[in-house]
Amino acid sequence: MSSAQAPSETPRHYQLFIDGKFVDAESGKTFTTPNPATGETLAEVAEADKADIDKAVQAARRAFEGKWSTISARDRGRMLYKLSQLVESKTKELAALETADNGKPIRESQYIDIPSVVENFEYFAGWATKIEGETIPVPGQMFNYTLREPVGVCGQIIPWNFPLLMAAWKLAPALAAGNTVVLKPAEQTPVTILELAKLIQEAGFPEGVVNIVPGFGETAGAALAAHKGIDKVAFTGSTEVGKMIAHAAADNLTKVSLELGGKAPNIVFADADIEQAVSGAMMGIFFNQGQVCCAGSRIFLDERVKDEFLDRFKARAEKIVVGDPTNAATQMGPQVSEEQLARIKGYCDIATEEGATVFAGGCSPQLEEKFQKGFFFQPTIFSEVKNSMRVAQEEIFGPVTSVITFKDEDDLVRQANDTIYGLSAGIWTRDITRAHRFAKQVHAGVIWINTFNMFNAASPFGGYKQSGYGREMGRHALDLYTQVKSVWVDLSGKPIGWFGN
Ligand code: NAP
Ligand code: MG
Repeated sequence: MSSAQAPSETPRHYQLFIDGKFVDAESGKTFTTPNPATGETLAEVAEADKADIDKAVQAARRAFEGKWSTISARDRGRMLYKLSQLVESKTKELAALETADNGKPIRESQYIDIPSVVENFEYFAGWATKIEGETIPVPGQMFNYTLREPVGVCGQIIPWNFPLLMAAWKLAPALAAGNTVVLKPAEQTPVTILELAKLIQEAGFPEGVVNIVPGFGETAGAALAAHKGIDKVAFTGSTEVGKMIAHAAADNLTKVSLELGGKAPNIVFADADIEQAVSGAMMGIFFNQGQVCCAGSRIFLDERVKDEFLDRFKARAEKIVVGDPTNAATQMGPQVSEEQLARIKGYCDIATEEGATVFAGGCSPQLEEKFQKGFFFQPTIFSEVKNSMRVAQEEIFGPVTSVITFKDEDDLVRQANDTIYGLSAGIWTRDITRAHRFAKQVHAGVIWINTFNMFNAASPFGGYKQSGYGREMGRHALDLYTQVKSVWVDLSGKPIGWFGN
């Protein structure tokens, strides 16, 4: 198969996008983002800090109260739809840049990430004209109705694992509902979002409606989350930082939605189609180098199928093509950063210390010269894991899964729920009563039955417990970006009379 066009070797330059213009940071500072496959600098990017966040929030406020508020729902929908078409027309370029900045294989950026971005903008374009209030049958000579209004200026902070897609999950419903946005991408992956800013201009969104402020979490992110001028903050990332965001927002009682970590159980019963379950385990943990919040990172195996499953799983994991992410045949690219690679290696040591077995993988692969400085890691399986071990409790965020065996269903459900997280869960069985029983018993926001990592713009996604609160995608996302106003109207034309007439 052919290699995708790699972006040019010389570093690219990006500025902040504030009030419809590309501008340098007030401080003049910049930072660089590497290509994780080679370690070479991909781009130099303006670094936003508090002063730039202030500017962006002010621009978003002006837009919210000004031009944007005069634009009809239909026109908001048309702009979103135009944006979806512009993104679609640039699929190849955006996919190549996503792969260069994040390291994910081109087959994922081109056939999953960018098409899903298109799908999300398209889906929410349709919602713009369908956000409605209701009339309430109140007693007496009264008319009561509700208005569903935008929340206002939204601060959005996103991670690096699906850079453009996480931006789309957040921008699309916010804009459909008539909000304005200040968005901070992750420092590791600012590039495609700044390319999107150009398309946002082209789609006709008025200046200040969307502002993009790349920078660091501790500075730009913290300033945004704590800003008095925002009405809502939406965050996707680690549970640890999610708690910091909630604390910062609490001081101003800013509305918050959080999409956080996970440690999903992926459960294989003895009656499952084992080949199908193995493919689901692979999809669950090796997709996107395992850098997925809903990854199936705890595989629970019915003891009776342990050997058969593990033999097949190992054989297939070892066949995964790891390497040059621009090559269409590559199935796994590098991890996003040196820091993530070090974290994953650290967990391999922890697993061994805890008494688990490194059953497959466990180290970086040998690759050609050009990729020696890349952040690659092999697909890795830990066996003989107990659910209480750190590798089964902590989010590793790499191509590393822990295999735990079980004997009976009650014990299994207890263990599956024995985690601080509750984002997703998978089950493999041919018994439909067991499958649906399980779907009710497991405390998680998304359940996959005989499948894994399925998403659609129309289907809600979000966590239970410390995996966060709020649901993105689907009609539920509109609840995050609208507020309800109740309006009472007297129809009698008479004084109220309670204190006499
Ligand atoms: P992270 O620190 O939670 O980063 C997510 C976003 O929050 C980034 O834009 C980050 O900016 C920003 N941020 C960091 N500190 C902040 C603060 N004090 N105030 C406001 N914003 C802040 O995640 P990470 O460090 O990149 O990755 C660490 C771990 O988080 C991973 O190993 C994984 O377990 C988890 N994670 C989960 C998800 C998910 O989808 N659930 C996604 C990514 C990571 P900077 O990147 O510029 O610092
Ligand atoms: Mg970070």
